[in-house]
Amino acid sequence: GDVTLEQVREFVWEIPQEGEMGAPARVLASEALLEEISGDKTLQQLRNATHLPGITNHAICMPDGHQGYGFPVGGVGAMDAENGCISPGAVGYDINCGVRMMRTNLTYDDVKGNEEELVDSMFANIPSGLGGGGVVESGIDTVEAVLDRGVEWALEEGYAVPDDLAHCEDEGVREGADPSKVSQKAKDRGKNQLGSLGSGNHFLEVQRVTDVFDHQVGEAYGLSEEQIVVLIHCGSRGLGHQTCNDYLRRIEKQHRGLLERLPDKELAAAPAGSQLAADYYGAMNAAINFAWVNRQLVMHRTRQVFERVFDRPWEEMGMELLYDVSHNIAKKETHTVEGDERELYVHRKGATRAFPAGHPEVPAAYREVGQPVIIPGSMGAGSYVLRGGEHSMDLTFGSTAHGAGRLMSRTQAKNDYWGGDVQDDLRDQQVYVKAQSGATIAEEAPGVYKDVDEVVRVSDALGIGDKVARTFPVCNVKG
Ligand code: 5GP
Ligand code: MN
Ligand code: MN
Repeated sequence: GDVTLEQVREFVWEIPQEGEMGAPARVLASEALLEEISGDKTLQQLRNATHLPGITNHAICMPDGHQGYGFPVGGVGAMDAENGCISPGAVGYDINCGVRMMRTNLTYDDVKGNEEELVDSMFANIPSGLGGGGVVESGIDTVEAVLDRGVEWALEEGYAVPDDLAHCEDEGVREGADPSKVSQKAKDRGKNQLGSLGSGNHFLEVQRVTDVFDHQVGEAYGLSEEQIVVLIHCGSRGLGHQTCNDYLRRIEKQHRGLLERLPDKELAAAPAGSQLAADYYGAMNAAINFAWVNRQLVMHRTRQVFERVFDRPWEEMGMELLYDVSHNIAKKETHTVEGDERELYVHRKGATRAFPAGHPEVPAAYREVGQPVIIPGSMGAGSYVLRGGEHSMDLTFGSTAHGAGRLMSRTQAKNDYWGGDVQDDLRDQQVYVKAQSGATIAEEAPGVYKDVDEVVRVSDALGIGDKVARTFPVCNVKG
């Protein structure tokens, strides 16, 4: 049905609490974005999410929000970790889908003229699409080690350097991972996928920095205009998808009571304190480790590609990890709620952690300025680096947007766009794109996404994630 919205102040809209809602819901958006958000089931899904037990303060929709499986993409829900719940649908199928940005000391001039060689070499060396194959051959023992030890495993195997861990949330190793809670089927699906992009929306993109808005923070992040950076977007592949599926089925069997009280079965949740909640948390944390290693291996192989194309060791090209952010996770975090410290399962589904300056969980290198937040736009638009804003803890449990957000379905995209034309248009803007199929390019045409500048404008104005720098694509391998 229709959803009532009241404006609280500029960029803040509220769905008032009524009926069975456990809390009000909030949408953070400009009027233009709100109109787009209102065009699908997002608001309905957001209101439904307030029925999840233990929902705290508000269910929140970010400016890039759109409808998802049960819980909206661009959604944040913090549920009490003692009396609330944890919900696989509020994490998302692609557990720890996320982005990482790698710096270089190359400039756009250094890369100009080599774009085609670079994109061809990335495409040839980094597995993409639905098919199997990863950067490393991995048997079940490798998968187990990865689930357990995350990027530590990659470090031991020579696929990472210590700084790669320091510049990743949780230092690349999620505590509380329990590989024994990940099914054999999920492990089998992950076996030959370590170091692969996966399909469609995932990508490996070389970009140039076009603007640095905040020079002090830009310096702390090692970003300057005309610099080349690399953005990697992928997640936990079949392993994460299978894990989400496994636990949705188990919830249906074991917690029917709760399920039947929820307005949408896709919101299936395990009650906090139950065995199933503990099992899902252990499995999800393990899948998080898998995704971090996946991004690490893609980055490792990208360094090797650059070494071949530019004939220099990657260290000489300054190819350091700036930061890695997750945008499909739940995490037990302590937040201050009305003056009290509370343990919450913070679900960020298509939302990015955006901890401000001084927060102890921001890595030492960035603690004085706040954590880097990476917001991809599209293969034909800018992407942004933000820093966690000073109001994020109060407004959004330390979170902001995760992208521009989809505007239209894949089906509609394939009707509206033709892959070859999109590729030619991008070429006219000096962007070289390669994908497994023309259909992928059509589904991912820049026009299928919202205006990333507008999304970031809202984040910046609310002080949840502040603008630091903007980039533009140079070449791109689409999953
Ligand atoms: P999601 O994780 O929801 O699939 O995607 C995150 C965001 O990535 C999307 O909302 C979109 O703004 C952005 N995005 C999708 N494809 C590309 C791409 O090829 N390049 C860049 N820079 N951003 C993209
Ligand atoms: Mn994903
Ligand atoms: Mn993603």
